[in-house]
Amino acid sequence: MRPAAFLAAAALLCLPARAELPEDHRTLRRTTSYDEMKRFLEGVDGKGPVSVSVEGTSTKGRSLYLVRLSHGGTPAWKLFLYAQQHGDELSGKDALLYLIRDVARDPALLPRDVEVWAMPMVNPDGAEAGTRENGAGADLNRDHMTLDQPETQAVHRVARRVRPDVAVDCHEFSRDSDSWKRRGWEKWPDITMDGLDTPLFDPGLVAAARRWVDESAAVEEAAGHRFLRYWVGGAPPDDEQRPSAPDVDGGLNAIGAYGGLSFIIEAAVRHGSQDPSADLGNRVDAYLALLRRFVAGGSRRADDLAAIAAARKRPLPPFLPTNYLWVNPGPQVTGFPVIEVATGRTLTIPTPNLMTTMAVKRSVPTPLGYSVAPPAAPVFAALLTRHGIPFETVTAPRPARVESVKLLRVEEEFDDLYERYGGRAVTSRGEPVGGDLPAGSLWVPLRGETALRASLLLEPLSLYGLYRYPRYRALVGADGVLPVRRVVALPGAAPPGRPR
Ligand SMILES: [Zn+2]
Repeated sequence: MRPAAFLAAAALLCLPARAELPEDHRTLRRTTSYDEMKRFLEGVDGKGPVSVSVEGTSTKGRSLYLVRLSHGGTPAWKLFLYAQQHGDELSGKDALLYLIRDVARDPALLPRDVEVWAMPMVNPDGAEAGTRENGAGADLNRDHMTLDQPETQAVHRVARRVRPDVAVDCHEFSRDSDSWKRRGWEKWPDITMDGLDTPLFDPGLVAAARRWVDESAAVEEAAGHRFLRYWVGGAPPDDEQRPSAPDVDGGLNAIGAYGGLSFIIEAAVRHGSQDPSADLGNRVDAYLALLRRFVAGGSRRADDLAAIAAARKRPLPPFLPTNYLWVNPGPQVTGFPVIEVATGRTLTIPTPNLMTTMAVKRSVPTPLGYSVAPPAAPVFAALLTRHGIPFETVTAPRPARVESVKLLRVEEEFDDLYERYGGRAVTSRGEPVGGDLPAGSLWVPLRGETALRASLLLEPLSLYGLYRYPRYRALVGADGVLPVRRVVALPGAAPPGRPR
């Protein structure tokens, strides 16, 4: 046998391609590959409330599948569930496939007034290669601000079209991280979850999401799993623990900026010490308990819908937070559960380093809108289009009072806890001056439902703004002036943030 043919035959023997999912998800010992998922989805398309479409193409040409579960009519509760942005985080994808399979078999599992949109494999290239990154080497869950990758662009197109009441971003975290292992511990939960948390979001929406998180502990306990709110950080008691980053370059907050409840779920996997598929069925089971509850609508769906409607109508507040972080106001000492690996016992470690509260360190007055200088206009026009944010190209000079912002430096220190927060932009705000918005510049008003997203994306004084990305830093002038200016007065403009 020629080597290539031998290898192909061996691969077939080792990994029999599955036509169907194993009947009981709890017995799953191997994740579903791209080809298996493709065949599975082709098989369920058209069965009961299931319809399958392709939303886009990955950097390496694989299809980005989108599945709709709907009985037709106008839904009262819409979900958008997306998984495997990180190609090596498996169980959310498998859980979504079982959710789809079950509804295809028994349509009554989907309430009449609920519509589910699912993208089980956002990153098929990373899934096939077993990498966190996509086919272009990009971490998709750090791409939601610039939307450079076709996979994240597809996620945002769906979010804008569907306007989900609930969005869920499915991940996995390492149960056996190094700093914990050194102490002889593993992380305690099987599964974790957190809700949207950028401080500019409507407090009622943030509180509604947090209620889902708090109520999930009992849901998982009933299903036989250990649940905690999502915490990231080193081992207690010394190292800081914080919830998910409040940035908008991840799916949690970027999709939350469309005005629905938004969540991240992370199931615990042993990446280093054993085959990550060994307890895959258990992780899928933990996932399904939470996903089924989202489909059912939770305990207070009417309250959630009222909070979502109010958040979408809310004008921008008079000040925009530009620098914020998680803190422990106290310090409060919290018992943090860990598993002692040697004995399997659960220990409770008192720690004062659990960050529970979002503190805003600095805010700036909300401008009327932003003006983008003509040389940067093409790059920003493309960016705003990818985000669905309306803008106007100025054809004749228009009088305005504007504030320029100078970039003093970008700090690149590596921070163990925040890690990705390299790229803090230290800026200074100039005095407002009278002048013109020049012809060829872009005018981005902070009006209507897109005002929130425009301010999160464009505010030049944001500590973690666009200028940590080389492509946008290249647009900063030699004098340090940023291409986006804050427009504080404009004859004939509506007050900031007022919905039309
Ligand atoms: Zn992840």
